[in-house]
Amino acid sequence: MPDTTEKTDLCSLTVPELEAYFASLGEPKYRAKQFFSAIARGERFSGITTFPLSLRARLEETAQYLVPEIAEKQVSALDGTTKYLMRMADGEEVESVLMLYEHGASLCVSSQVGCRMGCRFCASTIGGRIRDLLPSEIYGQVIAAGRDAGRRIDGIVMMGIGEPLDNLANVLRFLTLVSAPEGLNIGLRHISLSTCGLADRIEELKRADLPITLSISLHASTDERRSAVMPVNDRYPLDTLLSACRDYFAATGRRISFEYTLLRGENDSEEDARRLARLLRRYFPGSTPVHINLIRLNPVRERDYRSPDDAAAKAFCEALCRMGMNATLRRRLGPDINAACGQLRRSRIKETGSPHTTERTVTDYANIRND
Ligand code: SAH
Repeated sequence: MPDTTEKTDLCSLTVPELEAYFASLGEPKYRAKQFFSAIARGERFSGITTFPLSLRARLEETAQYLVPEIAEKQVSALDGTTKYLMRMADGEEVESVLMLYEHGASLCVSSQVGCRMGCRFCASTIGGRIRDLLPSEIYGQVIAAGRDAGRRIDGIVMMGIGEPLDNLANVLRFLTLVSAPEGLNIGLRHISLSTCGLADRIEELKRADLPITLSISLHASTDERRSAVMPVNDRYPLDTLLSACRDYFAATGRRISFEYTLLRGENDSEEDARRLARLLRRYFPGSTPVHINLIRLNPVRERDYRSPDDAAAKAFCEALCRMGMNATLRRRLGPDINAACGQLRRSRIKETGSPHTTERTVTDYANIRND
């Protein structure tokens, strides 16, 4: 963990908390909003020009600025998708991805350095979890990317490195920070959180009663198959997980979203599609709006799993639709920077050993993977 014992992590504080902080320095209350909006724009303490120099110097001495730096950036020459490697103050690195859609820009953020969930096809979990990210470090990814891209970020997906519900308190604080009207003001309705299925935390999230979209990484339709790819299923089997989801969605009334990564020969047969549809209908009958987001596996070098070809992925999607399910095959963004979640960080750990700053635009397509 970064050393936060002596210096205050000011970028993790909400406006009311900052008001108390500045009051303790003998400063007027309005400093809180000035500070919060300057930080959201990407200013460092020294760049808060609405503050007297003496106050800026005092913050430099007594507070920590934990918005990450951009250590590396890959821009897709095909569609502008930008993958950032963000470096924290202690040198740890995580990934964030900026995706451009017709309706706006969305940033995929990480919630932990590494992950301890152990999903077999995922690169993020290979070295385990190093540490949780602080609220300022999650929020800081949005600040740094927005500043770099020179544009407003309209939505957020918590689908980067880490399991957000394994760092729930910091994630909840992040949601407060990023949606605050004095700062980036990103509406909670434009934020989705993806989880491998920590059922008791889903219950806690339900109690927080936020209008975010919850996505569940399902990836299999029987306990046996799911446990084989996702060890978390031993702790929270399908019935426990789907019952928690049913309660969550009954309480919030938000649309239900399931992710299903297609693994060739493991979970992509017509029978799998039928079983998946039956399973979801059992918990969400009738007209409950369930959405299935199909993802083609992005093969990870260290793992044996393979992706079905495009025709097989489409056939799986059509089979679900024929059974009355609402399913879509996720469009591939940035195919020339196709490193799966966690792979950029891993390749840096392997190749360089130590962090360094580079910026490159991928134009040679050398790292396109054919699956
Ligand atoms: N821990 C959260 C967020 C992780 S990543 C979760 O498990 O939901 C977001 C999604 O990408 C998850 O559904 C995850 O299972 C999936 N994923 C991870 N690695 C992948 C890969 N190599 N190819 C395709 N999808 C992958």
